[in-house]
Amino acid sequence: MPNCPLCETYTTKETSQNSLPLSSNLFLSKLIKSVDKMPDYSLLLCDKCHLIFTDPMKGPGSEFYESDFLPYKIGRILDNQQIRWPQRIFLNTGTPGKGDLLDVGCNTGLFLTEALKSGYNVTGIDFDHNAISIAKQNPLLKEIYLSTLDNFIPKTNIKYDIVTLFDVLEHLDDVKVIFKQLKTILKPGGYLVLSIPNRDRGIDIFNELDLPPHHLTHWNAKVLTSFLVNKGFNIINIDNIIKYDDLALYISNKTSIGLVKNKIGNNKTDNLSTNTIKMLKILSKLKNILSFLLGRLLYLPLLIFKTQSPTIYVLAQLKK
Ligand SMILES: [Zn+2]
Repeated sequence: MPNCPLCETYTTKETSQNSLPLSSNLFLSKLIKSVDKMPDYSLLLCDKCHLIFTDPMKGPGSEFYESDFLPYKIGRILDNQQIRWPQRIFLNTGTPGKGDLLDVGCNTGLFLTEALKSGYNVTGIDFDHNAISIAKQNPLLKEIYLSTLDNFIPKTNIKYDIVTLFDVLEHLDDVKVIFKQLKTILKPGGYLVLSIPNRDRGIDIFNELDLPPHHLTHWNAKVLTSFLVNKGFNIINIDNIIKYDDLALYISNKTSIGLVKNKIGNNKTDNLSTNTIKMLKILSKLKNILSFLLGRLLYLPLLIFKTQSPTIYVLAQLKK
């Protein structure tokens, strides 16, 4: 059995439905059932820091993500992609000053484009060459690199004011190494911005993307807070309360009949007629509007019950 990837405690305890408080049991039982069916993986719960992690801690590498090109293709054709709520919250309430911002796992550069408009000097890296090639087509984004953080650090002499990792941490097979690296490129007093799936979420309990080899670690606000404080950060803002975006996205995913996916997936981009693209754009807009309205309706009751979001957002500051 391996040591905990966060606190290095030797862990022998397989995660079971009885091993966490009742509030986590619905998520856990679904997760445990799914991982039980995967012969190569098991789940462990750290006794000390309460991180849930996968054994073995082995990510699939960039080829795995690059093989799934369809989401980018759909996004580009429909031109309907939007930044997610943690990114919006950061841009609206973010850091006291602007400055140099590095987005690790920048994907197609959607967030970087908005950050640039808000006044940040932006740089983005990602190891997925499909995503990077789309980001590079944006003439506004000058500093975009196909790279891991590991390979990027020796090539830059900039100390960044802000480093953002949106939905990255849960994919990594060595979280501690990444934090060592982050400290070498963040200015003292610099900011770290994170979003990460929330294992204490009240909706979208089961999401197959939350399984290994996609996601290797499972966090909640408490585990994340103690880890960051332990690594020398002050928590400025942590938010895990449900947002109406969560509901809209959930409704939209759950009501998917795969129409757009089939049309675009079966055709090369150039083969789709202008009319087909127009129709797909209208249908997808309509669906987004309906999901948004339904999401707004369901939002208030869930908010009253203090339902947690599927995502945790954190703004933390490296101690000087
Ligand atoms: Zn631990």
